[in-house]
Amino acid sequence: MKTIKEELTTRDIVKIVCTGLGSGAPIDNKNGVLQFQTVCHNRPGEGSYKLYYYTSTQLFHCYTECSASFDVLELVQRATGCTLPKAGEFIRQITGKYPGRRGFDFIDQEENNLHWEDYDKKVADVDCSEKNSPISTHYLKLYDDKVPYIWHKEGISIKALQKFNIKVDYANMKIIIPHWDKNNNLIGIRGRALNPCEVLSGNKYMPVKCGTEYLAHSLGGNLYGINFNCDKIKETKKVVLFEGEKSVMKYEDWSNGENISLAVCGSSISACQIQLLEEMGVEEVIIAFDKMFTDNSSKEAKEYRSKLVKLGLKFPASMAVYYLWDDNNLIEYKNAPIDHGHKVFSLLMKMKKMIKGKMDSGDKNI
Ligand SMILES: [Zn+2]
Repeated sequence: MKTIKEELTTRDIVKIVCTGLGSGAPIDNKNGVLQFQTVCHNRPGEGSYKLYYYTSTQLFHCYTECSASFDVLELVQRATGCTLPKAGEFIRQITGKYPGRRGFDFIDQEENNLHWEDYDKKVADVDCSEKNSPISTHYLKLYDDKVPYIWHKEGISIKALQKFNIKVDYANMKIIIPHWDKNNNLIGIRGRALNPCEVLSGNKYMPVKCGTEYLAHSLGGNLYGINFNCDKIKETKKVVLFEGEKSVMKYEDWSNGENISLAVCGSSISACQIQLLEEMGVEEVIIAFDKMFTDNSSKEAKEYRSKLVKLGLKFPASMAVYYLWDDNNLIEYKNAPIDHGHKVFSLLMKMKKMIKGKMDSGDKNI
């Protein structure tokens, strides 16, 4: 079976993103990079040209809301809310080609008319269980069983790094971050590039490649850390949501192993992720996203605050939602609230702000 890389040309990609998902014609910035509208998180035709496609790696990077790298299959899933097999079918319909990838051998014949016009409907019926298929744990044996010293130096204990199975790929200069789903299935492996050229080209965090295959999964279809932390979350009915995986490991040390944190792996929260929290019986959510402003009274701070509030309002009535906000300039621009040590994080947690309270379910029928 051919891989996406062998099968889809750049022309196919343009067709998928423009004709299929509704971006305007791409800006070709001549360095093997095409800029599309951010159809990953915006409605067709509405986003800015901040969705970059790198022809060398065949991966997209959304530089705004998602702040994540993903392949074309994940892009289709993000844009339409459909499942992985359906994303493959969508690509086949538009390009006439059917890319092979694990979990792609079957096609649901009845669902072959998916188009971006179905956007709203598809987003509404996201089925988390179908989003990611397990991959073999044998892939983990490919990497060096060492913990990355650079992350340890940053304040993550060896114990936490080992618990989360963080490894190193010395040959490719990457920190290896395995992702598991709620049933403890390995579903994807992300790599944190250490090579400065790779980091500069915007590919800091990417799915790792094995042979010609990317071990990618739908980030929005899972919550990083769920396999390790779901019991504690169910017990306390509380969750702390970070953007990145590293923060979940830092929380492990801060909380002395009483870890109730998860990472959304980006800076948006999907319907599927909210569904996963509902399944765990979560009643209190604390959004602990990166600080995306420098001056507290600036326009960007104001806009960022309303973005967080908007995110918070997406959660159901059964959950109270809070967010962390750096009023006192304790952390730096683009840093996670837990990046500046335990004391600062404790302070920020103490000063958490409420977006909405939990509505008593008993009131519903009155
Ligand atoms: Zn995006």
